[in-house]
Amino acid sequence: MEKTVGVLAVQGAFIEHRRRIEQLGFQAVELRNGDDARSELDGLVLPGGESTVQSKLLRELDMFEPLANKLSEGMPVFGTCAGLILLAQQVANGPVAGAEHAAPTSSHVAISGFATMPVTVVRNAYGRQLGSFHIADGQFFGDATGVEAAGGDSAASVPTVAQIPMTFIRAPHIAQYGDGVEVLAALPDGTPVAVTYGNQLGATFHPELDDDMSIYNTFAQML
Ligand code: GLN
Repeated sequence: MEKTVGVLAVQGAFIEHRRRIEQLGFQAVELRNGDDARSELDGLVLPGGESTVQSKLLRELDMFEPLANKLSEGMPVFGTCAGLILLAQQVANGPVAGAEHAAPTSSHVAISGFATMPVTVVRNAYGRQLGSFHIADGQFFGDATGVEAAGGDSAASVPTVAQIPMTFIRAPHIAQYGDGVEVLAALPDGTPVAVTYGNQLGATFHPELDDDMSIYNTFAQML
């Protein structure tokens, strides 16, 4: 039966994620309210955007609790950028966070996200100048051959290092990670930019903005 993946659609870059999920052959549903969040889902995508806004809207729209329950029951989740911030157990604000927001107190706003992944992320870590950049030679350590190979011949799913494009937009930095967290992708200098923890996947970049499907294939394998 076709699996259904919910894409949080309260703010940020959700349309591109929806298309990618459909490209993988799954049904994608946009989640906008508490009823959507309570519907039957096989997986969840938390898109990029603004994590402070998203964590507030999740509660205002009565979506936080139902989604948190599903995550605690083990539903696979993929968070990009702000979405990863919502999954992180520790969140720190980067040096330019205060300068980027209009409200003077906003750099002290606590992000109370789902906190399901033992990682520490620093928001807006690359500074204002380097906040947004694109690279062609990101390192991907997962199974670049995709879902079919993973489900079939085990020899074909031996992890290889592949080069993939990566687009960063005011990205967070994964400063620390705990036991059970594996680095799935890194910058050429080795800085981790995508991690997995069981059936949770988080990326500091935006794979929905490039053609490469490697990261999505990893998520598909979790579903
Ligand atoms: N800077 C944003 C935040 O802190 C994340 C940016 C993004 O999702 N592209 O939430």
